[in-house]
Amino acid sequence: MRRRDFLRLSLLAAAGTAAPLRARALGEPDVIVIGAGIAGLAAARELQARGQKVLVLEARTRLGGRIWTDRSLGAPVDLGAAWIHGTRHNPVAELAETYAAKTSETDFDSVALYDVDGSRVAADRVREIGEGFDALVERAVDGADDLPGDVSAGEALRRAVRGELDPWEARALGWAQAGLAASAAEDLERLSLAGLESGKDLGGKQVLFPGGYQRIIRGLAEGLDVQLNNPVRRIVVRAQSLRVETWRSSFQTQNVIVTVPLGVLKAEEGIEFDPALPAHKRDAIERLGVGVLDKVALRFAFPFWPEEAHFLGWMSENAGAWPHFLNLKRYGPDPILVGFAAGDFARGMEARSDEDVESEVLAALRAMFGSAVSAPSGMIVTRWGEDRWARGAYSHIPLGAEAGDRDVLAEPLFGGRVRFAGEATHRDHAATVHGAYLSGLREAAALVSGA
Ligand SMILES: Cc1cc2nc3c(=O)[nH]c(=O)nc-3n(C[C@H](O)[C@H](O)[C@H](O)COP(=O)(O)OP(=O)(O)OC[C@H]3O[C@@H](n4cnc5c(N)ncnc54)[C@H](O)[C@@H]3O)c2cc1C
Repeated sequence: MRRRDFLRLSLLAAAGTAAPLRARALGEPDVIVIGAGIAGLAAARELQARGQKVLVLEARTRLGGRIWTDRSLGAPVDLGAAWIHGTRHNPVAELAETYAAKTSETDFDSVALYDVDGSRVAADRVREIGEGFDALVERAVDGADDLPGDVSAGEALRRAVRGELDPWEARALGWAQAGLAASAAEDLERLSLAGLESGKDLGGKQVLFPGGYQRIIRGLAEGLDVQLNNPVRRIVVRAQSLRVETWRSSFQTQNVIVTVPLGVLKAEEGIEFDPALPAHKRDAIERLGVGVLDKVALRFAFPFWPEEAHFLGWMSENAGAWPHFLNLKRYGPDPILVGFAAGDFARGMEARSDEDVESEVLAALRAMFGSAVSAPSGMIVTRWGEDRWARGAYSHIPLGAEAGDRDVLAEPLFGGRVRFAGEATHRDHAATVHGAYLSGLREAAALVSGA
């Protein structure tokens, strides 16, 4: 979720090029794309359109990766990405048109906000909080210019606060900061301020898909050869051959595009590279961060909240605890709320049982709406941090890393035979669907042109 964007070869590679590849065997793919998220599907589709024979290997039993529309609550609910962040010149907005996927605008300033005692915060005060936070962020960034090195976003904001905050101001600041933490999927103390500023905004509207993001995925995947439920465990690169080993089979190919999430590249039991990735690549993988953003979707018998609001906000004493709920009733007939948890609060939540999470979320809603809150008829809790094929929600730049690490992550290896795409590899639009999509197109084009 993005409320307000903060401000807006190694020797081995040479060895790979030295000898010509052996001729392709009949039926063997020219390219294997690892991962059927939007980056992988974009790359595969583009390559197939340029005459390449492509095979996509996907670990999960479904397509889409971190785009995942669930229907178990009787209505489409996006448990991963929900929004097109900025429709201007956004290729995902074009895909929505191509595949006739209806979109609906979200006003991130439309929040029915409740204070700790359950009283509704007046609309002009909500606006003041937003404007005050924007001004604080600006001062934080200006102030950081005078510092010798990088600083965390949390530290920069603390330095920019003027005077003592009264309890109301402290709660309001905590709530506004929780919005920023949710957009980055990480606690502000861990985020590099310079890193946050390095991302770019496309501008235009923020829109979501009332019928689910999956429509884009279905459209992109049509006509592609995708093997689901076939996790890759090893990539073996030799001077004249390239082999991709999965848990149940093995494939020879000429080229590989790896689009697995950064969290999977970081994990010990992720994918083994033989020979190992060069040190500078491994260092960049280690330095870059993956945050956690989780959603709890609840379906109720009837809406007990203001139906016109796009979001409900909760200014609790513990700012990280259920600060935002997306009101899906705003986009369709179904009384469904989606709560957000980010950073360490989300990591802690993932360790608790669904029953405990339900009690917690209902306690927050009851503090806001009292006895009008009924028991939900259904609930879904995501655990992106524990998800074996994601290991987090999306990437960020922690203190100690820099935007250039994304370029290192994106560098092709072994004479361009092994390439890397995925949201974390896009310097300007990481952590988004469009960034992931563009990274897939980038690698497909580079592969075909031999760059
Ligand atoms: C909760 C949440 C909310 C978000 N909200 C938004 C939003 O509103 N707007 C937005 O623009 N972005 C949002 N994002 C980010 C967005 O979802 C991602 O940036 C984007 O979907 C990443 O696409 P990708 O192809 O790079 O990675 P993925 O979608 O993760 O695809 C990688 C694929 O690789 C597969 N894989 C992993 N390991 C293996 C293996 N060993 N073998 C084979 N396959 C493997 C995975 O299963 C997955 O399918 C959100 C993400 C989350 C989690």
